[in-house]
Amino acid sequence: MAKKIIKKSWAEPFKIKVVEPIKLTTREHREKAAKEAGYNTFLLKSEDVYIDLLTDSGTNAMSDYQWAGMMLGDEAYAGSKNFYSLWNNVKKYYGMPYFVPTHQGRAAEHMISKILIKPGQYVAGNMYFTTTRLHQELAGATFVDVIIDEAHEATNEHPFKGNIDLKKLDKLVQEVGAKKIAYISMAGPVNMAGGQPFSMKNLQEVYDYCKTHKIKLWFDATRATENAYFIKEKEKGYKDKTIAEILKEMCSYFEGLWVSAKKDLMVNIGGFLTTRNKKVFEEARNMVVVYEGLHTYGGLAGRDMEAMARGIEEMVEYDNVRMRIKQVEYCGNELAKFGIPFVKPIGGHAIFLDAKRFLNHIPQNQFPAQTLATEIYVDSGVRGMERGVVSAGRDPKTGDHRYPKLELVRLTFPRRVYTQAHIDVAVESIASVYDERKKIKGLNMIYEPKYLRFFQGRFEKK
Ligand SMILES: *Cc1c(COP(=O)(O)O)cnc(C)c1O
Repeated sequence: MAKKIIKKSWAEPFKIKVVEPIKLTTREHREKAAKEAGYNTFLLKSEDVYIDLLTDSGTNAMSDYQWAGMMLGDEAYAGSKNFYSLWNNVKKYYGMPYFVPTHQGRAAEHMISKILIKPGQYVAGNMYFTTTRLHQELAGATFVDVIIDEAHEATNEHPFKGNIDLKKLDKLVQEVGAKKIAYISMAGPVNMAGGQPFSMKNLQEVYDYCKTHKIKLWFDATRATENAYFIKEKEKGYKDKTIAEILKEMCSYFEGLWVSAKKDLMVNIGGFLTTRNKKVFEEARNMVVVYEGLHTYGGLAGRDMEAMARGIEEMVEYDNVRMRIKQVEYCGNELAKFGIPFVKPIGGHAIFLDAKRFLNHIPQNQFPAQTLATEIYVDSGVRGMERGVVSAGRDPKTGDHRYPKLELVRLTFPRRVYTQAHIDVAVESIASVYDERKKIKGLNMIYEPKYLRFFQGRFEKK
């Protein structure tokens, strides 16, 4: 009997018009390059990388529609046409009236942290993001993680591991009082948990709680369309809604949000802040001229704002989001065939290899994830990133390493950049490193910068 044909391909909803050559180097070359980079994949030269899965931040391929927009850059110092097209689309898709552009996400985080936080206050969030938490701490807040416990377990298959645990949140509120909470900082999908989404139901509950206790609720909407996709796929009642409708509904619960446009918006640079709170907006609009540039460009060229405006229209297209998420899923399914441990469920933008299980002979103070990222690079020129004890940094009060439960290597997929054959190369390389894993030794940290040490820290082999 003929096999039943099921048509479910997620093939790319585009074809390739421009290509950028990449080259495969020798193992010897990569060993030298890794050593020179202090065994930190952030310090490698891009030229020495074959398939770059370091990050999906600003590494996306823009469409011909976006590139055409780049030629329409209005580079006036004040009141650029492109500022208005971007603002219009921000209003239309995120649903908030006020808007300030910034050169990237952390600039918006810097401003919003300074505006909303009084020193000595608390910020509660669903796990944390590196730059987000740092700006909150620099503004004088203590960050408290109130994500559900399941998020810290690599093998737990909870469908919404990005959810906030209301009991944990309430415990904090009971302890310190609602007035001491500057705001709740909610992100989705949660990068550090493995690209895990929150559910609309959880968001509604958090919203109700915040309303009752008069606590502000703010959104890191950097990857919001991926969260919207997961809600559509997994949550009851959303199957027939569009990504744009779900995004709008999510945003409706927040007082304001910030975005790194280098992710969802499929551009190479950009960010913004948008809110329904006029006072907060006025402060941000004033602050942006100090740190970024006039409030109608915020550190961006007119052409960048046009590419962002057009990126917003493309990011809500279902086929675009689906292709992206299915590509990540394909990689995970292939890795699973070799029994390679990674965080489940498969998240939105990346596969997170579980370095604790992958290199279970290396203790966490010898940086197993940092080690694994290096070994994969040396094997094949595939570059990933550490998301474990190095990324977690030190506790500002005790000065000790923070030892996160999750010790991961992130393989992140730039949007619209690599093909399925590239993914196969990455999978084969990881499988061969897995075969030889017992021979791998850990690392010592020999240089540690004060802030965000994972970017510039240096290591040597044990
Ligand atoms: C990338 C990112 C940021 C920081 O944005 P930059 O544009 O890199 O400054 C903040 N939050 C999340 C969730 C991110 O992914």
